[in-house]
Amino acid sequence: MKRSQDRRRTSKKRSKGLKATLLIAVAALVGLIIWIGTNDWNVEKTLEQAGLSNTDSEKPETSPGSEDKEEEDEQNLPPAEVEPAPPEESTEKGEDDTPFDGGYVEGQQLPSEPTYVKDILIANKKYPLPETFAPGESKEARAAFEEMAAEAKLSSFNLTAFSTYRSYDYQVTLYNRYVDRDGVEAADRYSARPGYSEHQTGLAFDIGEVNHEKHWASSSFGTTEAGKWLLANAHRYGFILRYPNHKEEITGYMHEAWHYRYVGKPIAEQIFKKNITLEEYLGIE
Ligand SMILES: [Zn+2]
Repeated sequence: MKRSQDRRRTSKKRSKGLKATLLIAVAALVGLIIWIGTNDWNVEKTLEQAGLSNTDSEKPETSPGSEDKEEEDEQNLPPAEVEPAPPEESTEKGEDDTPFDGGYVEGQQLPSEPTYVKDILIANKKYPLPETFAPGESKEARAAFEEMAAEAKLSSFNLTAFSTYRSYDYQVTLYNRYVDRDGVEAADRYSARPGYSEHQTGLAFDIGEVNHEKHWASSSFGTTEAGKWLLANAHRYGFILRYPNHKEEITGYMHEAWHYRYVGKPIAEQIFKKNITLEEYLGIE
């Protein structure tokens, strides 16, 4: 008899305890719901507030092409007619107030022979090309580009080279147009004077995405998924980003996310891994 009473008492105690636990749980749940409610029913925001979320607050980039489909047919500019946007006022210079001299050697005449350093053809503001130098587009560079474009397609990036070889005469037209529009100083930061353009070597490829013309010859290309893919993979096909960010003092040009130069795989690998410019690699700064 005694035993069964004991048992009953214990089970009563137990059910009391259970009731209390349930009550606390319900109260906690109600509290939680109210709390989430005050955060506009945004669970992620609530978790973030509680320091429980480890989600990156950075929003994922929109998938390539999702935003500029409506512009597709608007401007089918022929190759090499794409004009780079005038450079934004640089906020990075600051340190010294000496005006940017364009990087050219004053009074320099165009040479009669192109310059090769370590068997690499160089064309920059210190090493111009002869007016008569007209090799056309490099077949080797074109083949490498096509191979690269084929692999990019597997990641759904449809790459195109919208400007490659440019003759001396064409550069005359182009440069003069930019000077008329933006003035010499601005034009010198994004366009080469005739004889100084790497496009005259036939080894420079301005790369963009088919149907995404608004990013052609624009720094915005570097922020697209295709631009990032190219930056990470071009060296495997022998291409280097020729004018990287923060290297204007060395290369003579502002950052050009679209301008790639073919140098062949071994050298491209080295330049990429060391994160240097062609000038630094060749030791001709
Ligand atoms: Zn270019």
